[in-house]
Amino acid sequence: MPKVNELLSPLMQRMGVASSTYTGGTLVVCSPIDGSELGRVHIHEQEEVTKTIDAAQQAFMTWRHIPAPRRGELIRLLGEELRLAKSDLGQLISLEAGKVLSEGLGEVQEMIDVCDFAVGLSRQLYGLTIASERPGHRMMETWHPLGVVGVISAFNFPTAVWSWNFALAIVCGNSVVWKPSEKTPLTALASQALFERAAKRFGDAPAALSQLLVGAREVGEALVNHPKVALISATGSTRMGREVGPNVARRFARSLLELGGNNAVIITPSADLDLAVRGILFAAVGTAGQRCTSTRRLIVHSSIKTSLLERLKKGYQALPIGNPLTAGTLVGPLIDRASFQSMQQALANARAEGGEVFGGERVLQEQFPHAYFVKPALVDMPAQTDTVRHETFAPILYVLGYDHFDDALAIQNDVPQGLSSAIFSNDLREAETFLSVAGSDCGIANVNLGTSGAEIGGAFGGEKETGGGRESGSDSWRAYMRRATNTINYSKELPLAQGVRFDV
Ligand code: NAD
Repeated sequence: MPKVNELLSPLMQRMGVASSTYTGGTLVVCSPIDGSELGRVHIHEQEEVTKTIDAAQQAFMTWRHIPAPRRGELIRLLGEELRLAKSDLGQLISLEAGKVLSEGLGEVQEMIDVCDFAVGLSRQLYGLTIASERPGHRMMETWHPLGVVGVISAFNFPTAVWSWNFALAIVCGNSVVWKPSEKTPLTALASQALFERAAKRFGDAPAALSQLLVGAREVGEALVNHPKVALISATGSTRMGREVGPNVARRFARSLLELGGNNAVIITPSADLDLAVRGILFAAVGTAGQRCTSTRRLIVHSSIKTSLLERLKKGYQALPIGNPLTAGTLVGPLIDRASFQSMQQALANARAEGGEVFGGERVLQEQFPHAYFVKPALVDMPAQTDTVRHETFAPILYVLGYDHFDDALAIQNDVPQGLSSAIFSNDLREAETFLSVAGSDCGIANVNLGTSGAEIGGAFGGEKETGGGRESGSDSWRAYMRRATNTINYSKELPLAQGVRFDV
């Protein structure tokens, strides 16, 4: 097998990315697979940020006049380019973010799916017509694009999150400036190149409709604070959201925040345990526990806790850990050393709080001395401690017991985050209660499947410290538009609302 970094340039070439864009810059990009250098990307300076946003504003002024179904045609073409490049882009995601190949390909499929969704949406951006209280009057809603949409994304979905925002924002009539994670700019360069191919085939899309800004937090901050950016859609840690949210609010712009999760699965006595074990394994160790929707807490009825733990331990011991590009691997590396250290710190804290830890140690160190592969950890906890309440972005699954169903619900909700949740139960009352107002307080609540791997057709996002944003399917498109309420008088009178008289 060729060295990891030798795989890069043929992929980039096939996707139309010039090598000059990822060599010679100051942002060093390394593969989490073996720590080897993949490229050096140019970091945008403050004045380039301003120029980029000005150009995006110009692009918006043209694009907003293009009929939405034609805007959809551009996204249809992007979907075609993504279909053609699925294998290359999927491999690049594996190289740069360390996901196993089938998940890298799955991420591209998600992009294709959201493009299809947005194409249909481009003919369905509708408002309501509302009965007026005044004779000879009609009321209606009109939806208009916002302007420049800034997208800030995290390393773990290096391009799908952009596509969720981008496809919808573009059919809605906006222009987009994307600041990808500084850990995964190569996937962003490739996605932009694929968009440019689509734009070329489309013909008359404005030049600056889609642009990239590369850099770390400072570049994100410049985007967030720019007065011409109408919406900031930011995906990442709660720490980041705490900074971005108030900064956007300060200038009364809009924000769409997709932040950290601390997702739990409740296992009740009636659960189909075969199904539950499979569901838990994928959700807890898939993507090496680096999904915002990864299962981090298991809340198990005391009567089945020991037997379930034994089954999970067996499953964990059999997990193929290794090079994510090798067929059969299910667990790839952590993104970097800092991530490994925060995992080890969390495990030490859990031990100090009375937890019993299985797994969690570094493996494959000889083969990959500059990468961080770990055995996913299972931690039998006596209670939901501060460590359990905190999101550690690594494969740690805390196992907690419960005796009464109400207690299970209380534990599930007693964390600051509110992204995804699930119950495995064949008891209708328990399952329906879990979905009811008295049940899970998360944006996503599932029955008899895990917490991760959402489809694009639903609105995606969560409550509390997860930030409250919704992206992707359902009516999430409204976040990228502004609503105008219009009243039309087709009579010869001028009656005032609420019966007010003002006779002049
Ligand atoms: P991160 O918060 O470190 O970085 C995310 C992005 O924000 C990066 O592009 C970074 O440069 C930028 N950024 C950081 N501080 C900023 C600031 N002050 N102003 C503007 N931009 C700033 O997150 P990460 O380590 O890349 O990703 C992991 C985190 O993302 C986890 O907490 C995970 O749960 C979360 N996540 C959430 C979702 C979701 O949809 N809810 C999806 C994926 C990841």
